Amino acid sequence: MTSTNANSSNIHEEDFATVQSATIKSLAQDMGFFACGIAKAAPVDEAIAQKYRRWLENGEEASMAYMSNYLEKRLDPRLLVPGVRSIISLALNYAPAQQIPEGEYQIAAYALGQDYHDLMKQKMRELAIKITERWQLPSKENGEEPSIRCFCDTAPVLERYWAQKAGLGWIGRNHQLIIPHAGSMFFLGEIFLPYEADVYDEPMSNRCGNCHRCIDACPTQAIIPNEDFHAERCLSYQLIENRGELSDEAKNNMGNTIYGCDRCQTACPWNRFATPNTEPALQPKPELLSMSKEKWHNLTVEDYQRLFKGSAVKRVKYDGLKRNITVTKM
Ligand code: SF4
Ligand code: SF4
Repeated sequence: MTSTNANSSNIHEEDFATVQSATIKSLAQDMGFFACGIAKAAPVDEAIAQKYRRWLENGEEASMAYMSNYLEKRLDPRLLVPGVRSIISLALNYAPAQQIPEGEYQIAAYALGQDYHDLMKQKMRELAIKITERWQLPSKENGEEPSIRCFCDTAPVLERYWAQKAGLGWIGRNHQLIIPHAGSMFFLGEIFLPYEADVYDEPMSNRCGNCHRCIDACPTQAIIPNEDFHAERCLSYQLIENRGELSDEAKNNMGNTIYGCDRCQTACPWNRFATPNTEPALQPKPELLSMSKEKWHNLTVEDYQRLFKGSAVKRVKYDGLKRNITVTKM
């Protein structure tokens, strides 16, 4: 396969390389990704785009202003990365192998180990290098900008939409990406390729059926049938994104959880098929597993920095975590 420069303006359509989907999936599997699929880069389906616009117009993003940034790029990946032709969606299992003991304060499963952003980007970059090596494709454009881009919450990309498009699973009533016979505890990432794939995956249709367990499990009515997701009511939003005082609803419903919320995931029957992850970086520190309520209430800045060095929990900052701990009842 010949090398091409996908962003060159004088390049002809027939000069673009084609990559083999099955080989990419095999490489991804070898690297420990649970699932991999490939979708053709195109504008987001109009019905989804309209739904997203309406969600923003209704102010449902609450204080997450970044959700409304770069709207046109979010709804058309070709505007985000000119020259993108294929989007590889990848899923990495984070279903916990070890849990914080029941009865102690809980942290959302995705945040028990090291920050997934770094791990996902590192793995995706390795996969991108393997792809460029496999087909002898250029890894740089003009010696500077990479021609292949890797994203994990780092750009305006509708990650669950693209995962569904790439056939990984479907977006369930709990708004999570559900992978059949595996569940929803997966980090998602995307590799934008300036090359065509020989085969594109078919989107997966929704398999929620008549189930409503996630809706029943949500203590704050953040998910309501046939309504958009009410982010401001969600405990994940309140306990992580909300920088102000927690809503009364959150205070009354957070129970023992001091960071995030997993209730609509653990209620989902597909998560019964989850298998514990074996990724060393995602294992919780022994000190985190041994935290008692008393220790949490006495948490110092130094404790916080030691406990959550390199952790996604850093997003809430010390003051935010203390706020959450303070409103729980011992
Ligand atoms: S994360 Fe918790 S609060 Fe948010 S929708 Fe799910 S169950 Fe409801
Ligand atoms: S709990 Fe049921 S309705 Fe909710 S996402 Fe899972 S399968 Fe779908």
